[in-house]
Amino acid sequence: MVATRADGPAEDRQGIPHYRMFIGGEWVDTPESYEVINPATEELVATAAKGDTSHADAAVAAAKQAFESGEWRNTPPAERAAVIDRVIAELSSRIDEFTEIGSRECGFPYRLSQAICVGFPLMHMQHYADLARRYEWVSPGPVAGAVLSASQIRRDPIGVCVGITPWNFPLVLVVWKAIPALVAGNSVVIKVDEKTPIAALELARMLRDAGVPDGVFNVVTGNGETVGAHLVAHPDVRKVSFTGSTAVGREVMRTAADTIKRVTLELGGKGPNIVLDDADLDAAVDGAAYAFLLHAGQACESGTRLLLPSSLHDEFVRRLVDRLKTLKIGNPLDPATDIGPVMGPVQHKRILGYIEKGKEEGATLVHGGNVPTGPGFEKGYWIEPTVFTDVRNDMCIASEEIFGPVLSVLRYDSVDEAVKLANDTEYGLSAGVWSQDVPRALEVAQQLQAGSVWINDWHNISAHLPFGGFKQSGTGRELGPQALDEFTEAKAVTVDLSGKVERRAYGLVFSTPPNA
Ligand code: NAD
Repeated sequence: MVATRADGPAEDRQGIPHYRMFIGGEWVDTPESYEVINPATEELVATAAKGDTSHADAAVAAAKQAFESGEWRNTPPAERAAVIDRVIAELSSRIDEFTEIGSRECGFPYRLSQAICVGFPLMHMQHYADLARRYEWVSPGPVAGAVLSASQIRRDPIGVCVGITPWNFPLVLVVWKAIPALVAGNSVVIKVDEKTPIAALELARMLRDAGVPDGVFNVVTGNGETVGAHLVAHPDVRKVSFTGSTAVGREVMRTAADTIKRVTLELGGKGPNIVLDDADLDAAVDGAAYAFLLHAGQACESGTRLLLPSSLHDEFVRRLVDRLKTLKIGNPLDPATDIGPVMGPVQHKRILGYIEKGKEEGATLVHGGNVPTGPGFEKGYWIEPTVFTDVRNDMCIASEEIFGPVLSVLRYDSVDEAVKLANDTEYGLSAGVWSQDVPRALEVAQQLQAGSVWINDWHNISAHLPFGGFKQSGTGRELGPQALDEFTEAKAVTVDLSGKVERRAYGLVFSTPPNA
């Protein structure tokens, strides 16, 4: 685990690190603490300060003051990018430590933790730093005809930006908010999920050491309903970038309306995964399992509705179940583990509740559905990969986000019917098509209402492509070439070069020239 250090976020308390918040360049503690629990073992991994609304206020005040001082926002973008380069260098030297944090704090199987808790943050930070170097911060505007003027289109930082993140991808989702906001010259307050604060607080230390001035980057802990909601309502906050459930996203959007905040929302999903009748079945079976099982199904972009043509249905389900039987569920720190635990008692109960609901609704449970028992499963929050067939799209298990290792299989008889079923959802985050005929798959992709569509693949999130949702999966995009647009305001600056009053448009208003 992370070694505590005198100038870092954590202090050692009888062998357990205790994490403090980072506000205005100071480590801030509270009398009460959260417990960070390993979901595989129920062991105490760390404790963390329990922030309240006064800490949210302090963080916003520090961020506002830092923004107004101009030190960071007037630092040239290439120098801001160079600060991120230094963080990349440090994180690259601590890969094992951060991989272990991902496994212990959040239950990521080790191989997956290396990719998602370290690899993605590194690649995505690099993307934002590179973007900052080539972004068009100032571009020449059009020259107006009759009036002799010159104009610029500038991209200015917005001000204090708040990022609110969930527990499922602790570091990478903080990176998606903090790093583009910072390279664009904003000040940032991150409200981390109370269950997974470690990686964000370690990032705060790395950013400070790399040269981000005090107050520009702040991390607060605290409950969503109090601290999160307070930040969203705060009049000095100009932008909120929120990742979490659609239900809370709705609240955020509603509250943000009072002060017309800029809002980016990355919300839930119910990804439809369409297998066409000409798919390579080996690849599609493996892909279907991967689509719904990454991080035990606790990924917003998971493929949780599998749409099979009736002609292939039975064979496909049989092969899928055979594949699932080969997967190893267990200790995330064991490199052989494929599937880890779910995030804690609340998630566990919720997912098991959906499995019961699926049975009650008349779907057929063809695999899993149980809590594994025996050695290695005495503690922790475990659920077997679970597959239901005979699912109708109006059943809860097909229409609601379960956020666990549960797959709903639906049949279709024509591609039009598959597209209709795929789009018949309030969500629109991800979708997939499996076919050996790529032009045919592209035609289907074109009809799907989703922000990311993978053909013969899943979970392939690239820093170079925008990521975000159609419909109630959100608004705005993260990553991709336009990522910095989300953290800047367009400003038009026009200079009159004519020097002549009579050439200006004032005559539209004034009937007489000045000094007449
Ligand atoms: P959640 O909405 O319960 O919580 C997310 C964050 O919001 C937490 O930090 C929480 O403390 C805070 N919060 C809760 N209530 C709040 C309020 N009223 N005002 C402000 N903040 C509040 O979500 P969760 O259960 O932690 O995460 C799972 C959800 O996140 C799933 O729905 C998943 O699909 C979604 N998600 C989406 C993406 C994406 O990119 N689209 C990525 C990951 C997760």
